Amino acid sequence: MIDLRSDTFTLPTPGMLEAMMKAPVGDDVFGEDPSVNLLESRMAALFNMEAALYCPTGTMSNQIGIKAHTQPGDEVICDQSAHVYVYEGGGIAFNSGSQVRTLEGNLGRITAEQVVNAINPDDVHRARTSLVCLENTSNRGGGSCYDIEEIRRIRKVCDEHGLLLHLDGARLFNALVARKEAAALYGPLFHSISVCLNKGMGCPIGSVLMGSAAFIKKARRIRKVLGGGMRQAGYMAAAGLYALDHHIERLEEDHRHARQIAEALLQTEYVESTLPVSTNIVIASIRAPWKPAQITEMLKAKQILTLPVSSTQIRMVVHLGITPEMAAITANTIRNLIGKDV
Ligand SMILES: *Cc1c(COP(=O)(O)O)cnc(C)c1O
Repeated sequence: MIDLRSDTFTLPTPGMLEAMMKAPVGDDVFGEDPSVNLLESRMAALFNMEAALYCPTGTMSNQIGIKAHTQPGDEVICDQSAHVYVYEGGGIAFNSGSQVRTLEGNLGRITAEQVVNAINPDDVHRARTSLVCLENTSNRGGGSCYDIEEIRRIRKVCDEHGLLLHLDGARLFNALVARKEAAALYGPLFHSISVCLNKGMGCPIGSVLMGSAAFIKKARRIRKVLGGGMRQAGYMAAAGLYALDHHIERLEEDHRHARQIAEALLQTEYVESTLPVSTNIVIASIRAPWKPAQITEMLKAKQILTLPVSSTQIRMVVHLGITPEMAAITANTIRNLIGKDV
């Protein structure tokens, strides 16, 4: 099977497994796991942030960030398709007692101008706007990346209005590789950043939340409250350390494969269009009378797994489990999926 449903389907490579087996570990709730401590300090240094916290999932690290930055009754601004709003089980309401103001961005990206216009006035009738969440790359935006200049403008608006800025950087490494930007530019632009290691980085689990030392101290307490304080987590953190050394530059290969697959999709009669492909995600709109579920089934019969993501779209996500040969087979299968006699 060629599994393109998500980049969460990656399996640890032999090298990663070996690194995990050899990891020095300790009780991380006591702060004594050397592998977790090393991963946290390396990530903080890489992103030019003071401190970091290893978390079991990206959902938890986003939710911890939002909880640390808000008070119940506050309002959080994000794009309407944001993972923190759409895919975290109502977590902002559940964990933080805050409400969300969604904006209609461009492929998941919002602008500084939209943010300014969404800030509530200081009026007892209105919720206190306290936090802006960005997502880079944007999952529902088809892996789109922010222009860093727009992020700078958004940060300026946040500073002018006393708002905090969180980045859901589940696939931030994909954005950095695609745009050839240094990770160190990103830390100073945000009050917190969450990065997933369980996606294109190829780790079985794990995310890292970064911010100031004071923020991470608060975040560590919230992680414990949520039940996310793990003991010998170093076996997993070692996978993250391995990924930092071996799985960042190779993301470019995933991006190339994604473009190759999108090109094939656009040559078929059952695909109307794709969202612009800038990283490892391809979202294709299926042309009526074909239906996403039908195309997904036909591809599955040819050993290719894809995901219907709306009533008109299917999604394919490329990752380190997809070899150049598998990408070529996928492109060929897509081209020949429906014969001219149908
Ligand atoms: C996958 C993902 C997350 C976190 O997912 P977990 O499965 O909880 O690690 C957060 N944000 C975005 C945009 C994602 O794609």
